[in-house]
Amino acid sequence: MMDMPLPVVASARRPRQGMAHWLEAAAPYAVLAIAGAALPLLGNSYWGVIATRACVYWVLVSGLNLVVGFAGQIAIGWVALLTVGAYTTSVLAAGTVTPALSPYLTLAIAGVAGAVLGAIIGLPALRLRTFYFAMTTLGFATIATQIVLAWQGVTGGGVGVAGPVFPGPFSSQWGFYYFCLLLAAICTWMTANIAGSRFGRGLVAIRDAEVAAEASGVAKPALLMTVFLFSGAVAGIAGGLFASLQSYITPDAFTFDLSVLFFIAILIGGRGSILGPLLGTILLTILPELAAPLVAWSTFLYAALLLAIVLVAPGGIAELLDFRNRRPLAGGRAIIPRPELVANVLGHKTRSSPLSLQGLRLSFGGVRAIDGLDLEIRPGEVHGLIGPNGSGKTTTLNVISGYYSPQAGRVVLNGGTLPPRAPHLRARHRIARTFQTPRVVGAASVIQNVMIGGTVGGQGTFVESLFSLPRHRKDEAALHEEARAMLAVVGLEPLASVRADRLQHSELRFMEISRALMLRPAFLLLDEPAAGLSPDEIKRLGTLIVTISRQGTGVLLVEHHADLIFDICDHVTVLNLGKVLAAGTPTEIRSHRDVVDAYLGA
Ligand code: ADP
Ligand code: MG
Repeated sequence: MMDMPLPVVASARRPRQGMAHWLEAAAPYAVLAIAGAALPLLGNSYWGVIATRACVYWVLVSGLNLVVGFAGQIAIGWVALLTVGAYTTSVLAAGTVTPALSPYLTLAIAGVAGAVLGAIIGLPALRLRTFYFAMTTLGFATIATQIVLAWQGVTGGGVGVAGPVFPGPFSSQWGFYYFCLLLAAICTWMTANIAGSRFGRGLVAIRDAEVAAEASGVAKPALLMTVFLFSGAVAGIAGGLFASLQSYITPDAFTFDLSVLFFIAILIGGRGSILGPLLGTILLTILPELAAPLVAWSTFLYAALLLAIVLVAPGGIAELLDFRNRRPLAGGRAIIPRPELVANVLGHKTRSSPLSLQGLRLSFGGVRAIDGLDLEIRPGEVHGLIGPNGSGKTTTLNVISGYYSPQAGRVVLNGGTLPPRAPHLRARHRIARTFQTPRVVGAASVIQNVMIGGTVGGQGTFVESLFSLPRHRKDEAALHEEARAMLAVVGLEPLASVRADRLQHSELRFMEISRALMLRPAFLLLDEPAAGLSPDEIKRLGTLIVTISRQGTGVLLVEHHADLIFDICDHVTVLNLGKVLAAGTPTEIRSHRDVVDAYLGA
């Protein structure tokens, strides 16, 4: 899509580097797959049971990982879904209530039941945060057990029910093991696909930088619901496998310990990783077996392990294995943006009408943050917004980008009023922004962060990403290419694969700009982009901003550096206590008496 002149070195090196990265990422999975496939050669059925159990747990944890590790939702009662899946398969396969169904069919039904329940358990996550959501998931776990106990006619109550037996090639112990291993491998593949898709990046962005995610067009409720459905489905299937492995299930089998195991496997594995939680699950399944007396202590053991990991490596196993990010970065790095590339990445687009703010008013309690503000941002121009601290600049940006709903007035674009309190819809109007304090996903690489900005450009659905279908692959290739181009524009391309939390503050500011550019913005709102930059960097930033605006983008620049404002702005609005103190060209403002008195003179 982008035929832009990238530096020769970078483009010549990229394909091989990509292959090496891919091999590096795939190697651990290949090792696990081979070890898993060869396990029956040991001929030890005891370890066979444990390995099967690890596979079953991983089928559940792989889905939960998207909820906990990626989206950052504290879902600790996931054993409820295992319970429902186990009883659904067992009861339907036993034929006590319905005619006996094929165990494979019951497994599929358990998946559907799990998906429905997963969505129901997930619903509170859209409103409740952290602990409160955690408590509701725990509540569901308790309810599931109580229902099973009370509904004796169907579930057998405390006496229990026999688990399904899978016929055909999967009836023997090792046959069933291979069946579970296959499903575990498929789950690994599917969740890895999601992790490497705009959905996975959106989840992590919701976790670490929610406002930036929304400004990039990530619709949190829809995305979370999709993930809860998926996570519930695989947990339901895991329940069916669990029932078969246990061969007989009673409510006692679904302990709180098990729920804790699932949750902690993800934490010690590392949030936002697939391999880490996979290893975590294997570790926690094996650990109690290594010494029989430890079984009684398993919860204590998990807690101790968690504590140790948090103290030694807060990023979990994944961080311990992340060798690439331990290589030191060059010190004293200077950012050299390349404005000459801007035309290539932003060019050829239709001009928008101006973005106009009409009579905006917004108070917080007694504070009038903005008080009757009129302002027009025109395409192709840089509009400076200055004023003392607390004069309402950031609040203005927040109203434009839909975080706050103004108490009076409106934001008009192309003849329509932009809906208040809908930040995730702004990206579709190609309104992009940066933040006064950079909002980034520290644990993701620089290029992943930038790709978040291109979320709305994707065509493929969640299911297409799950199975890595052509549209998903096309989306990813295009996003990668665009993000690289945007990084080249701001001069950060050499750091593309570095974890964002290793960057300097000034680099993060430029990274946010390249993320915003992913929208090919009609309007770009910059909140103090020069804060923390050196004088040279500020100059280069100024040139970059002007070049972007000349491509037709309307820029709203909030800034404290008066030099930058007067150098590059076409219009300047001065705010004081939420009111316009003065507006005009830089020359007019510079000589405006009130402004000099109230602001510049100080
Ligand atoms: P600026 O960006 O110009 O420094 P802000 O727009 O951040 O100023 O703030 C304007 C005023 O509104 C300040 O008095 C600030 O304390 C207040 N304010 C901003 N956001 C909130 C909020 N979420 N809740 C309460 N007061 C707020
Ligand atoms: Mg501010």
